[in-house]
Amino acid sequence: MKKVAWSAGHGINTAGKRSPIGEREWSFNNSVVIAGMAFLANYDGVQQLRVDDPSGKTDIPLVNRTNQANAWKADIYVSSHHNAIGDEWGNHSGVETFVMEPASNNPLSLKLANHIHPKVVNAMQIRDRGVKSANFHELRETKMPAVLVEGGFMDSRTDSIKMQDAKVLIAQGEAIAKGIADYFELKIKPDSKPDVMDVKMVERAIVIGSLSDYPAAEILSIRLKAPIYPRHAITGKVASELIVVGASVNGLIADKLTKLSGSNRFETAANVAKYRI
Ligand SMILES: [Zn+2]
Repeated sequence: MKKVAWSAGHGINTAGKRSPIGEREWSFNNSVVIAGMAFLANYDGVQQLRVDDPSGKTDIPLVNRTNQANAWKADIYVSSHHNAIGDEWGNHSGVETFVMEPASNNPLSLKLANHIHPKVVNAMQIRDRGVKSANFHELRETKMPAVLVEGGFMDSRTDSIKMQDAKVLIAQGEAIAKGIADYFELKIKPDSKPDVMDVKMVERAIVIGSLSDYPAAEILSIRLKAPIYPRHAITGKVASELIVVGASVNGLIADKLTKLSGSNRFETAANVAKYRI
């Protein structure tokens, strides 16, 4: 059994770590980790653990994350992040994947990075900044091969467009999962459907079209204790009631469909605030 520890960098309350329009880095990282874990679950012989807070409410300190992975005896550690240079839009771009420096002392981390990195570049279709080494806590304090993927720049005019598309972040998660599967030479389960996210039937779910709808959806998600599904991931009936925040209701199947999407994100946010069950 191969044990994979995942970390979505930061939390929703972390100071800084925002795009120029206030999107949270954790929200991007979280989408990648959710998709990555869903795809990796299609393989035999793998156990997974998330070492950040999946609700995002607490920014779990890095030392707790690496201690948890070490105590669990993870075989590898994968951390998802998105880059930023500052608070203003720029034309910089690209994916970079880090291993602990010097890379020559960490051949297994490098091997893992070399499996993951090109697939992430391909999923994001942005500049390849290469596999690099750095002295980051999550890479230094983990006792197993570890990589940190910076999947794009939140303050890049080009990368941010990709990152606002839920499909692209799902593809990034899939890319990381496939890199992990290649590294371990995992075999896909015979009955798995690796192209379809494992969306479970629930009483009530919230649907978003892109990550720019995430802040509004998140408030509702916490209030209603309902999961948030990207529109792209939904096929067939996944809930009795769907509350649609910032996506078209066309083609969605549910006993009750509630549309809160406005003509822009401010109207959507106002609709969400007014909404009562
Ligand atoms: Zn980060």
